[in-house]
Amino acid sequence: MPPFQWTCPFCTRHQMVTDENLSTNFINLSLGESKYGNTGLQYTGVRCVNVECNEVTLVVDFAVSVFNGRRGAYEGGRELRSWKLLPESSSSVQPEYIPGPLREDYYEACLIRDKSPKAAATLARRCLQGMIRDFCGIAKGQLIDEIKELRKCIDDGNAPKGVAPETIDAIDAIRGIGNIGAHMEKDINLIIEVDPGEAQALIELIEMLFDEWYVARHKREQKLASVLAIAAEKKAAIAEGRAQIAQAKVAVIADQSSGV
Ligand SMILES: [Zn+2]
Repeated sequence: MPPFQWTCPFCTRHQMVTDENLSTNFINLSLGESKYGNTGLQYTGVRCVNVECNEVTLVVDFAVSVFNGRRGAYEGGRELRSWKLLPESSSSVQPEYIPGPLREDYYEACLIRDKSPKAAATLARRCLQGMIRDFCGIAKGQLIDEIKELRKCIDDGNAPKGVAPETIDAIDAIRGIGNIGAHMEKDINLIIEVDPGEAQALIELIEMLFDEWYVARHKREQKLASVLAIAAEKKAAIAEGRAQIAQAKVAVIADQSSGV
């Protein structure tokens, strides 16, 4: 297979995949003609070349098996089922400066999104409430009241630091979606019937808020720290320069007085 661009789902490092770190193969199952026709398994494994990660990503597809006369071998046709074995979900790795309970709710919501969208949506709503409480410092009884309070803060020009009006627009947009929107006033621990699309919309909102709130704040803090370090370095250099000039002056005066 020719090399291709790929992003590791564990460490998010962009890289080229070559035959060195890729293995893919199709196996005909020889089960006879099933209701799907002949079937087989396609597996694809990729090893991350980032030495600090070095993880294995593994996907297995159950597919229709098609005989390629020219190659004299079976090939994968229409995909019937697909399993992400490693990593188990499509969640993206979140940095450790995001509070642990929020990350855990997010990872778990991603993990069960397809199998149990209503449980995933419950975790995602809890995560959203946790973020509004932690990042925005707004804690009321219900998630809906916290969202309303956040909207009021923004409208009054008192938005919590780092919260742009667009983010509350995104939260409001979620409130307009199916059952999530219809039951926003319900307790966050109450399980609401939703479909995988609704759960996914909530998960994407959380990913966006992680990025726009926590990651952006961390980057600002890092930039500020580096500016302060440069300023301190400059100040120290100036002070040292002054001290050297003063020392030189003392030496000149000492020379002059000893010469007299
Ligand atoms: Zn990796």
